[in-house]
Amino acid sequence: MARKRLYGKTLDELSVLTAAASLPPYAAKQITGWLYRRGAPEISGMTDLSLASRILLEKDYETGLTPPSSVATGSDGTKKYLFPVSNGRFIETAYIPDRDRATVCLSVQSGCRMGCRFCMTARQGFQGNLTANEILNQFRSLPEHALLTNIVYMGMGEPLDNLGEVLRSLDILTSVWGYGWSPTRITVSTVGITDRIKEYLEKSKCHLAVSLHSPFDEERQALMPVQKAHPIKEVLDIIRGFDFGRQRRVSFEYIVFRGLNDTPAHIKELARILNGIRCRINLIRFHNIPGSEYSSPGQPEMEAFRDSLSDKGITATIRASRGEDIGAACGLLSTLEQNKNI
Ligand code: SF4
Repeated sequence: MARKRLYGKTLDELSVLTAAASLPPYAAKQITGWLYRRGAPEISGMTDLSLASRILLEKDYETGLTPPSSVATGSDGTKKYLFPVSNGRFIETAYIPDRDRATVCLSVQSGCRMGCRFCMTARQGFQGNLTANEILNQFRSLPEHALLTNIVYMGMGEPLDNLGEVLRSLDILTSVWGYGWSPTRITVSTVGITDRIKEYLEKSKCHLAVSLHSPFDEERQALMPVQKAHPIKEVLDIIRGFDFGRQRRVSFEYIVFRGLNDTPAHIKELARILNGIRCRINLIRFHNIPGSEYSSPGQPEMEAFRDSLSDKGITATIRASRGEDIGAACGLLSTLEQNKNI
C-alpha cells in the first residue's frame, strides 16, 4: 500500500498523527521544522527524532515531495512547469521573474468546473481537487524555490472551489511553525463564489483578487457562467462590507478583449460598481487560445483603456504579458501533455 504524505500537513494534523503513533508530544513541532524550514527530503533525515520514531513513521509515511516532469522556458525568463498529480493528470505552475520580484503561480485543481469561455483549463472540465500536498509541492519543488518573493493562486482551477485545501496550504505558508511567509506577499484569485468569499476573508489574511472581466451582468455571464449563480454585485457587496484593514489588498483582474469589454460604457459602469471600494484593476491582455472567438487588443488600446479608467479615479495597471512563446494562457501545456496520453 502507498505510504501517506507528511508534506502538506498542518501542525494540528501532525499532532494528531504523532499522538496516534505514540510519539512524544513535541514530535509534531520537530516534524514541521524538518518539512517546512529545513526541507528534509526523507524521514530518515529528521535527525532530532529518535531512531525508533523515524522507523515507526516510515512504515506508514513518506515526506511526499514530487519533482516537476517537464519545463518550458520563455525568452523572457518565464518558466512553465508541469507537475504530475495523483489522478494521472498534469497541472501547470508558472515561475515569473520580474526585476526584484520572483512569483510562482500555483494551481489548485486539475481542470476546472467554472467554464470561463476564454480559458483553456475550462476545456479540460473538472478532473479533481489538489490536496494541500499537491498545492504546496508546486512551491517547494520549484527549482527556483529559494528565489521566490511572491505567491499567487492564479493557475488552474478555482481556489474557493477547493477552499479547505487552499486554507490548509495558506496556514502552512504563513504560520511561524510553517514557512513564516507574510500574507501580504500572497494573493488568492477567485471568480467570486459568494458563499465562500467571506469564509476565505475571515480565515486568511492574504490578499484577494476577483476576476471581473465585465461590469455588465449579461456580458459577464456570457464570459463567465458562474455569474448566474454568483452575481458580481453580490460579490462586491460582500467586499464592501468587509474591513480589509491597512495591509490587506483587494484587486480586480480584468482580461481585455478587443472591442468587447473596453468601451466608454464599460469605463463608466466600472466606475459606478466599484465606487466606495479601495482597490486596483489589473488589466490583462487576452492571450489567444485555439479556436477562440475573442481577439487580443494592441498595446495602444490597452493604454488608452487604462488611462480612461485612471481619469475616472480607478487605479489601473497593465500586467505585462509574460511567457507568450511558451503558451501564456493557463491550461495550454497541460492539455497538450494530457492529449499525448489519449
Ligand atoms: S479562468 Fe480560472 S476559474 Fe475560469 S475556468 Fe479557467 S481556471 Fe477556472
